Amino acid sequence: MTLTAGVVAVQGDVSEHAEAVRRAGEVHGRETEVREIRTSGTVPDCDLLLLPGGESTTISRLLHDEGIAEEIVAHVEAGKPVLATCAGLIVAATDAGDDRVRNLGVADVTVERNAFGRQKDSFEAPLDVAGLDDPFPAVFIRAPLIGDVGEGVEVLAEWDGRPVAVRDGPVVGTSFHPELTPDSRIHGLGLFDNDGRAVAEDGAEPTPDR
Ligand code: GLN
Repeated sequence: MTLTAGVVAVQGDVSEHAEAVRRAGEVHGRETEVREIRTSGTVPDCDLLLLPGGESTTISRLLHDEGIAEEIVAHVEAGKPVLATCAGLIVAATDAGDDRVRNLGVADVTVERNAFGRQKDSFEAPLDVAGLDDPFPAVFIRAPLIGDVGEGVEVLAEWDGRPVAVRDGPVVGTSFHPELTPDSRIHGLGLFDNDGRAVAEDGAEPTPDR
């Protein structure tokens, strides 16, 4: 069965995620049809969702205006996988400490926007990630830090002793931008199991080992 992957495309780096999820599908032996999500009505057809980086205030406003926000919440409640990166993670979180961000609350973490400070606004670093055998080349761009982590949230990676990648049930969130490197392992980790099943498919095991 071909999987349908939806990339939330109201704003942000959409085409890179579309490419990365296609590559991750290939690695896992799954064909993936990618749809861009700009209005309501598409999310319910999607097996996987990607919430890209961009500007969290704009993304969250448009998601609510377009009626996409509640569809994403229903997708998560159905146990279907989501990969949320950078601004996407800010939107997915429970609180971003900023009234202009309308959080979805699908990942039980709080975040601090632009928390890395000016001189380290953007950088790349090899990052140890739980479930990956070798370090991942993590690109941080005006990245958020994760603050409080709810019970049941697994920290997948830390930078300077602070979480920068987490898993909360079907939602994997990263402060960095895995779609900006040719390495699709984070997309694989968030969206597929070892046998190439989408995380929510019958019999899928969400325990990665790759
Ligand atoms: N600083 C942005 C925000 O707070 C996120 C940056 C990004 O997604 N690269 O929305």
